[in-house]
Amino acid sequence: MQGGKLKASREIRIASLFREVPLEFLRMIAVHELAHLKEKEHGKAFYQLCIHMEPAYHQYELDLRLYLTQVELCGKLSWPG
Ligand SMILES: [Zn+2]
Repeated sequence: MQGGKLKASREIRIASLFREVPLEFLRMIAVHELAHLKEKEHGKAFYQLCIHMEPAYHQYELDLRLYLTQVELCGKLSWPG
């Protein structure tokens, strides 16, 4: 199935990226994806869920964006998804 293929390739890309990424970002990614189970859009309710699970969520997300810019991966990685 087309959808399954796309999902698998995205997971592989994230897996290879995070071999070289600070471990704290894995927590932020997990929180982000867990919040998507309940909220599809990046709306107010979505971020409230993120902060409920991880009070430092916004700091982690900012740190991750800066990190990705620094390693020049921003254009290659479709994150956040
Ligand atoms: Zn997202």
